Amino acid sequence: MKIANGIYMLEISANILGTPSVINPTLIWDNDTVILIDTGFPGQLPLIREAIEKVGVSFAKLNMVILTHQDIDHVGSLSNILKELPNSVKVLAHKEEKAYIQGEKLPVKVAQLEAHLNSLPNEMKAIYEKMKAFYENNKSSIDETLTDGEELPYSGGITVVYTPGHTPGHISLYSKHYKVLIAGDILQVQGGALIQAPQTSNFDTNSSMESLKKITQYDIETVICYHGGVYKDNTNKRIAELANGL
Ligand SMILES: [Zn+2]
Repeated sequence: MKIANGIYMLEISANILGTPSVINPTLIWDNDTVILIDTGFPGQLPLIREAIEKVGVSFAKLNMVILTHQDIDHVGSLSNILKELPNSVKVLAHKEEKAYIQGEKLPVKVAQLEAHLNSLPNEMKAIYEKMKAFYENNKSSIDETLTDGEELPYSGGITVVYTPGHTPGHISLYSKHYKVLIAGDILQVQGGALIQAPQTSNFDTNSSMESLKKITQYDIETVICYHGGVYKDNTNKRIAELANGL
């Protein structure tokens, strides 16, 4: 779906804990740089490639990946993308997220499951095993770390907004030019409504609320949520409500 010139939201079919769903990486590009923001679940490279080509961009031109955070539905196909396009894709993430993605720290969702391993139902134990093996077998290097407020010189300027809470190093990305927020997982759209990511999915509730307050400082017309897609109905007002716990 076209969001603005050179900004498209991709729609990738996925199955989340047995429920059919759609996830939404974002593609941002200009003449020299093609950036994919988040990389889907493991095994989704063919779908991602197809979605990029459908927009009219050659997959072979992809030369940057920005990860909003470490979760498996966001880093899942990164290692396959890097294998497919060796030495041509730069990978960026927040510095707090780097060690998890590189396999030096146990990813937070894996650690959360591990902490309750004995009381988990068998189905969740199987998911834990799968996730743990995935991260162990798909360690990927982060080439550059991002910091809060940093402006990336693409598509009229993309600002890195450090929005921890869902994970320790979660980021969102803001296009001032187009007033678009690529929210990652701090926000979701459900049944047409913009909502906060479920607190059960968050690493730290307090910082996730602080992050919502932080994004009220930006003038936002359109939000792209990785889960739920686009929201553009009186967006600033709705984000302010969410930041106030409404
Ligand atoms: Zn997610």
